[in-house]
Amino acid sequence: MVLFHPVILFIVQPDTRQLLNFFEAPWRARMAILGTLAFIAMIVTTIWRKPLNIPYEPWRFSHSTLSVLAVALGLGHALAVGNYLGLFWKAMLWSGFGLIALWLILYIRLVKPWLMIKTPYRVETVIPERGDVWTLVLRPLGHDGFRFQPGQFAWLTLNITPFRMREHPFSLSSSGDCPDRLEFGIKAVGDFTRTIKDVKPGTKAYLDGPYGVFTGDRYEDAAGFVLIAGGVGITPIMSMLVTAAERGDERPYLLIYSSKTWEDITYREKLDSLANKLKLTIVHVLRQPPDGWSGEQGYVDQALLARYIPARRGSQQYFICAAPVMMDKVAIALENLDVPVTHVHMEHYNLA
Ligand SMILES: Cc1cc2nc3c(=O)[nH]c(=O)nc-3n(C[C@H](O)[C@H](O)[C@H](O)COP(=O)(O)OP(=O)(O)OC[C@H]3O[C@@H](n4cnc5c(N)ncnc54)[C@H](O)[C@@H]3O)c2cc1C
Repeated sequence: MVLFHPVILFIVQPDTRQLLNFFEAPWRARMAILGTLAFIAMIVTTIWRKPLNIPYEPWRFSHSTLSVLAVALGLGHALAVGNYLGLFWKAMLWSGFGLIALWLILYIRLVKPWLMIKTPYRVETVIPERGDVWTLVLRPLGHDGFRFQPGQFAWLTLNITPFRMREHPFSLSSSGDCPDRLEFGIKAVGDFTRTIKDVKPGTKAYLDGPYGVFTGDRYEDAAGFVLIAGGVGITPIMSMLVTAAERGDERPYLLIYSSKTWEDITYREKLDSLANKLKLTIVHVLRQPPDGWSGEQGYVDQALLARYIPARRGSQQYFICAAPVMMDKVAIALENLDVPVTHVHMEHYNLA
């Protein structure tokens, strides 16, 4: 609508095209031009961030700045033109919406970090895991800790003030019933995550959350769960399994877990011990299996899923967390296998 209304205007009233002359146009038109350009730049840099090679942090900063500019300039333009917002109450109403949005930004940038500073955490230890993953263990400092549902995630700030806005999202991998000992399984993939292995015990941490609906706790009437993980996508699923074992959950769990090699399987031993406490069937799928491997190999595809998922497909809930390509393929395969789409839940690790 935003992009079409000037086009329609230029067609219906051709003389308005001279408003595109930025230097001679009145301010109300300049605001429209700048606001529209900010809006287009925001869309283009978000959809094509990776092909354009824009690193995440600068992208995030520009995304916030461009969105505020687009809304503020758009509102300024609408108020100055006075066509739709000519009446006093309308101008007040839309300015009110703008102020509410501004308040939300101030809340997230100032109030929330201030609240987070009052509930700090301390790094207890960092444990190496298989697959280039490190478990970061946090303890609350002077408060009761962090309540979450197994499978949810939190934004983590490490060793700097939360006002710096350099937080990263991670799924909790520990029990949802243990708010005073929190674990995150973090794979070393980039500049922040590669530093986790060197984090010293005692380092201060701050958490914002919990967030997300990727949790079995929302489906207490489920007859069982099918969990499909790829690589570090095991972390929220680990939290679900650990919590289920602690709660003495007797429902069947099927874990289909794709890894590169046998040695790379993150939490391999922990999963084996969980299989003794739960009705848990684990199917490892290896892309590079060792010699003599008789288990599943290659990719998780429809034929593989058909061999394992239960016959009564509507009574289970399905949770998938993996690389985007694998999640898309598994989601299509499950649909082809008549799994109701409302029973399939996915956690995406790529925000943009
Ligand atoms: C809901 C959710 C849960 C996640 N859970 C886990 C988990 O349990 N374990 C795990 O290892 N990883 C998890 N991730 C991914 C993790 O957040 C990124 O790998 C990490 O932020 C990368 O940071 P980096 O600076 O090391 O890597 P970079 O090389 O800088 O970035 C790699 C990619 O990660 C993303 N990214 C980078 N910085 C951020 C940021 N501040 N916020 C969000 N995304 C960013 C971008 O898409 C970027 O292209 C999760 C992501 C999301 C969205």
